[in-house]
Amino acid sequence: MIVIMKPNAAPQSVDSVLSYIEKHGLQTHLSRGEEVTIIGIVGDKTKLPTENLVSFKDVDRIVPVTESYKLANKKFHPEPTTVRVGNTHIGPDNLTIMAGPCAVETEEQLMCIARAVKKSGATILRGGAYKPRTSPYSFQGLETVGLRYMQEAGKENGLATICEVVSQEAIEEAVKYVDMIQIGARNMQNFILLKEAGRSGLPVLLKRGLCATIDEWLNAAEYIIAEGNPNVVLCERGIRTYETSTRNTLDLSAVPVLRERTHLPVIADPSHSTGAYKYVPPMAKAAVACGADGLMIEVHNNPACALSDGPQSLTFEKFDRLTSELKPLCDLIGREFTIC
Ligand code: PEP
Ligand code: MN
Repeated sequence: MIVIMKPNAAPQSVDSVLSYIEKHGLQTHLSRGEEVTIIGIVGDKTKLPTENLVSFKDVDRIVPVTESYKLANKKFHPEPTTVRVGNTHIGPDNLTIMAGPCAVETEEQLMCIARAVKKSGATILRGGAYKPRTSPYSFQGLETVGLRYMQEAGKENGLATICEVVSQEAIEEAVKYVDMIQIGARNMQNFILLKEAGRSGLPVLLKRGLCATIDEWLNAAEYIIAEGNPNVVLCERGIRTYETSTRNTLDLSAVPVLRERTHLPVIADPSHSTGAYKYVPPMAKAAVACGADGLMIEVHNNPACALSDGPQSLTFEKFDRLTSELKPLCDLIGREFTIC
């Protein structure tokens, strides 16, 4: 349920509504927009005599929120959220590109990729230090050593950094070295991990589960926010369908659907969704055209020898061509995007 205050409601009126709700043992969530102030209510509504609430000074109306996710809900927070990540941000005014290898392999490899992606316009360096691979015999990541390389490559090139975490121990390590943590598709409904991510203090990129509906995805985001961490970014990375020509099916309609339901930023991952480097540029452009706030793209210095996801990784040249093609698109739709 939300309480919508009248335009220009007095601060004392807002305070008295807040304390009335809290006195009944419910939580409040205040959203002060340019025009209207909204008070979101979380908790057992049966404890709250709402009929009294309507007669409070400056209350305009009370609207029920039927969806199970509240804090992630646009009704609670109509203005789009901007999430700060290191020295950059993800939100409605710019296009944020996260790029880098699937897995951190060596210090030299990461440093040279970081330099290249920075030059082509990326502001966040991605790289897996914990790799949840389909086969237990595949490369599983350098763990803490990989996180250290991420920190060094980020610092050296003025890039923020993001790494996937797969356990509480990985979160405890990641917070020492990187600017953002990622919850991967396979862990989207690992509720214990989501709660830990919510308590980590770092912004969280939440990828869509392979078979998750948009509602399930938003409920997963709610787990993180409910722990006191509002800095959640959603990443559409393709879902399982009957189609086998691509690794997954990139559900770009999720972008406008999410825009309608949540205030959280939304980015797209054309690499893990298509699984093939040649489909990455067209899907990246389509994602930007339909309103994504950013992209996550795998880039490798030598895709043929990559320890993971080589077939979907862009070379430096292909990545550079893509970002130079994205620039005029951003200018057209009014999103800031700078290539240094
Ligand atoms: C990744 O980004 O490296 C990754 C494993 O992605 P996903 O969880 O989307 O498969
Ligand atoms: Mn990968």
